[in-house]
Amino acid sequence: PVNRSTAVQEARLKLPILAEEQVVMEAVRENPCVVICGETGSGKTTQVPQFLYEAGYASDGGIIGITEPRRVAAVSMSHRVAQEMNLPRQVVSYQIRYEGNVTSDTKIKFMTDGVLLKEIQKDFLLQRYRVIIIDEAHERSVYTDILIGLLSRIIPLRNKKGMPMKLLIMSATLRVEDFTDNQKLFRTPPPVIKVDARQFPVTIHFNKRTPLEDYTGEAFHKTCKIHRMLPPGGILVFLTGQAEVNSLCRRLRKAFPFRRGNTAEDEDDDSSESMRKFKKAKVKKTVSLPCIDLDSYSALPMDEGDEDREAGVGDEEDGDEDLDLGDDPADGNEKADPSIPLYVLPLYSLLAPEQQAKVFRPSPPGTRLCVVATNVAETSLTIPGIKYVVDCGRVKKRFYDRVTGVSSFQVTWTSQASANQRAGRAGRTEPGHCYRLFSSAVFGDFSLFSEAEITRRPVEDLVLQMKDLNIEKVVNFPFPTPPSAEALAAAEQLLVSLGALEKPPQRRTVKEMQRAQLSCPITALGRAMASFPVAPRYAKMLALGKQQDCLPYILTVVAAMTVREIFEDIVVFFLVRPAHSDEENSKITQRRARLTQMRRLWAGQGASLLLGDLMVMLGAVGACEFACCTPKFCEENGLRYKAMVEIRRLRGQLTNAVNAVCPEVGAFVDPKMNPPTEHQVLCLRQIVLAGLGDHLARRVQAEDMLDPKWKNGYKTPLMDDPVFIHPNSALFKTLPDFVVYQEIMENTKMYMRGVSAVEAEWIP
Ligand code: ADP
Ligand code: MG
Repeated sequence: PVNRSTAVQEARLKLPILAEEQVVMEAVRENPCVVICGETGSGKTTQVPQFLYEAGYASDGGIIGITEPRRVAAVSMSHRVAQEMNLPRQVVSYQIRYEGNVTSDTKIKFMTDGVLLKEIQKDFLLQRYRVIIIDEAHERSVYTDILIGLLSRIIPLRNKKGMPMKLLIMSATLRVEDFTDNQKLFRTPPPVIKVDARQFPVTIHFNKRTPLEDYTGEAFHKTCKIHRMLPPGGILVFLTGQAEVNSLCRRLRKAFPFRRGNTAEDEDDDSSESMRKFKKAKVKKTVSLPCIDLDSYSALPMDEGDEDREAGVGDEEDGDEDLDLGDDPADGNEKADPSIPLYVLPLYSLLAPEQQAKVFRPSPPGTRLCVVATNVAETSLTIPGIKYVVDCGRVKKRFYDRVTGVSSFQVTWTSQASANQRAGRAGRTEPGHCYRLFSSAVFGDFSLFSEAEITRRPVEDLVLQMKDLNIEKVVNFPFPTPPSAEALAAAEQLLVSLGALEKPPQRRTVKEMQRAQLSCPITALGRAMASFPVAPRYAKMLALGKQQDCLPYILTVVAAMTVREIFEDIVVFFLVRPAHSDEENSKITQRRARLTQMRRLWAGQGASLLLGDLMVMLGAVGACEFACCTPKFCEENGLRYKAMVEIRRLRGQLTNAVNAVCPEVGAFVDPKMNPPTEHQVLCLRQIVLAGLGDHLARRVQAEDMLDPKWKNGYKTPLMDDPVFIHPNSALFKTLPDFVVYQEIMENTKMYMRGVSAVEAEWIP
């Protein structure tokens, strides 16, 4: 029996899903797999686990598992459900890659989808679980797709063994036919339960013009206007990334300053003095660990929406002319106006959990809530009390070139479905308004939906994980949406070249050959690589790392290479703020000189120089650890603090993973690591080449150069155009004849990132 507070009880009764409890539970009893569709905020994530718990699915030792594509959701939902059920966090727990609070008493376990995938590797039948809920399936993140494919096979196996397990797939949209109309996946289509959305009408206001550049500025003006002119109600602003979010928060706080009283706890609902003290004490003790995005080598999950909701949000029938704010941005400078305080909160994945949780609390009396978010607020989290949405219409995504693997982060238009999801956030509690910072003509050109992530990125990590699960013919895997045949073939080829898969035997016909190439079994090395939580190229380096006492360095370099953006960008730092006073300019010049000097220092001398950018990373991490990884050290030396903390954790995790495979190496994290010797640097370069062998580039010699565009350019096997060493690279001046690179990012030019020099005679 669950003992909920009256307040919780009342709030639950308002959720549409509560009306469907019987229907849901009956469907679950009678079917191995059930799909639940319900608008964001209808109560799927918080309530369905409770239904199952109350129906006894967690009694006699079983666990209810829920996967989320985002860490934010796994952590915050586990807290919320624990609180609603009045159960301790040892019972309603979460597990994300680096941390969790799962105990032997855990009955309901929220986790990221990657965590469950790892568990399947350890126990294919997932025997501890009685139910698995795949949440946010509409996001179509790669791991969600794979999990659904795997579970479609695990469920019947469990039934056969007489220990049945249930699968629930939950989606915020009705677009679920990839799961239901898919004979390969489920021979009997699972029933779909639709939860009625209790959605209020949202009036859409399009801009007449579409700002092409300064949409953050436009968002600022629009938010100011809403706050000045429109009735109470929270504002939710959608931007594309953390930096934009923070900068807009700053501007808004300046424009409508809000001073907290003497008590710093206004946001807490508990009023009793002792409770406040208790909380304060507790907050002080908990070290605030930043929330880290370890899945940084893959794209964030895609955003998909719901075609059925377009009609609802489309009508302009509110008759409330005043609410159309027009779109003249020439609003000039906002003067600070403390008479109407705005309570501004940022929300993005990398934000620390305590900060994220703030959006769920009531805003301080006399203020209006304004949340500035990336698309995490689109479907995973429901923020209470939002009446106005300001949508920039854009999203930041990583794009990969199919053939070359070249990747770039790009801000692009989102899909129509996504924009409608965003608009829908305004109509949860009462009729709302959505201000789109683009014209209706531009909206008409948006794609209807976004594609499943698996079709847009390289899949070598997935293929390796699957082979490790003994799925030899990955082509036959029941993907909800299969990746392209080329992507699969490219992945197998890479894995064979890394030694993770056996070379296919020679066959007579081309067809036989192709078939053999797509079903190479995994090698012992491949299994070791699969156990390392990094992409196969880096896993290979780890597997070779124990030679010549190189392991501590390789662990560090791999950790640094797989964490995004560890350095503050010298060039960008210089360029983004053009016109300044002389004093400011000289400050910038000084700063630039300092950062350049530090990088030169970390790059080492003599033989070390040839390890290039990787040596700089190694030096930076070494120096930072030596200085105990303080925010101050990072700030002074142009290192991103969060990245450094993440590297530290990842080093720990990789060290454990290596020890698990090969206990005799006894790897440990040494905070006071000496720089590598000359011989070790040589060895490191060879190990790096072994991992990045397909990322080789040769400098074009002057005599081969027919076209000036090749000046200082490098030739790679797959591209017709030259690639370059970035001016920020440690090897920019050296320009070695042969280099390997981590990746090619395209911005103004095709630039190699993470470059290190190799010797021609090493190349097979
Ligand atoms: P769904 O999964 O269908 O999108 P949820 O179960 O996440 O819906 O949310 C149901 C309701 O619970 C929403 O109205 C949301 O505002 C509320 N809610 C979720 N998490 C919290 C929280 N941490 N604090 C307060 N309310 C919350
Ligand atoms: Mg949800």
